[in-house]
Amino acid sequence: MTVHMIHQHISLRGLLHPRVCAHLWRTGIEMARPSSDMAAFRETFSKAKNIVVLTGAGVSAESGVPTFRGAGGFWRTWQAQELATPKAFSRNPSRVWEFYHYRREVMLTKAPNPAHLAIAECEERLRKQGREVTVITQNIDELHRRAGSKKVLEIHGSLFRTRCVTCGHEAPNHQSPICSALEGKGAPDPETQEARIPVELLPRCEHKDCKGLLRPAVVWFGETLDSEILAQVEKLMESCDLCLVVGTSSVVYPAAMFAPQAAAAGVPVAEFNMEDTPATMRFRFHFNGPCGTTLPPALARHETEEQ
Ligand SMILES: [Zn+2]
Repeated sequence: MTVHMIHQHISLRGLLHPRVCAHLWRTGIEMARPSSDMAAFRETFSKAKNIVVLTGAGVSAESGVPTFRGAGGFWRTWQAQELATPKAFSRNPSRVWEFYHYRREVMLTKAPNPAHLAIAECEERLRKQGREVTVITQNIDELHRRAGSKKVLEIHGSLFRTRCVTCGHEAPNHQSPICSALEGKGAPDPETQEARIPVELLPRCEHKDCKGLLRPAVVWFGETLDSEILAQVEKLMESCDLCLVVGTSSVVYPAAMFAPQAAAAGVPVAEFNMEDTPATMRFRFHFNGPCGTTLPPALARHETEEQ
């Protein structure tokens, strides 16, 4: 609990998340509702030199990217939690590749939205002023890169990277289809016949004649995050002087702890989300609504910025 969080008087507009209420009840600490004063945020933003933007599924959802989680989030009869696991892949690599092939192909029909574009434009503009903007994202769809963001850490990997299960070689891969056997496969309807592609016809490693089976280079359920990327994230979180949390519920660990840790260290944190999250009360600012609407004015050129 830092002074930053208590300096405002309590205003309990809207509903508090039950877990936040429980936390408040347990600690007995008075917590201030974060500010939604855009002018105050813009003042802080105008002085920040190292900005970290943590993004999650909400940003992708506004581009129409399906997550295959939650109500109605099915591919055939499965949700992502059932297919995005090492076990599912070793049992049925054809099925898991059909799922990922479908997700890759879907991305050809999606585009970055105003939130992605505002972050990319801000990075480019501030770079010329000697200021840094880095995106740390849980999303695997590469929409930040497609929007033009250069400094992007994809902590859950990418749909458009592969890793060899034999030699470990990782490489970008934007082919469509990724292999001829998957062409036209991967339809999401529950009545779709499974392709049952022989394993030798699935994507194979082309590194030094290895020919091992490739898998999507994404972090699956039950797997740990890349320690090198985690070390970079920690370094960034320690050096940033402003942190934005965009379109993520802040409940997915370990990403969930980055922003609350920064807030606890006194870094101003601004949350842009459709709703309150369990971490909202720890943050300095909260802006409610679609981030494609709230983010562009928040990150636009400030009057104090040099041209
Ligand atoms: Zn290999």
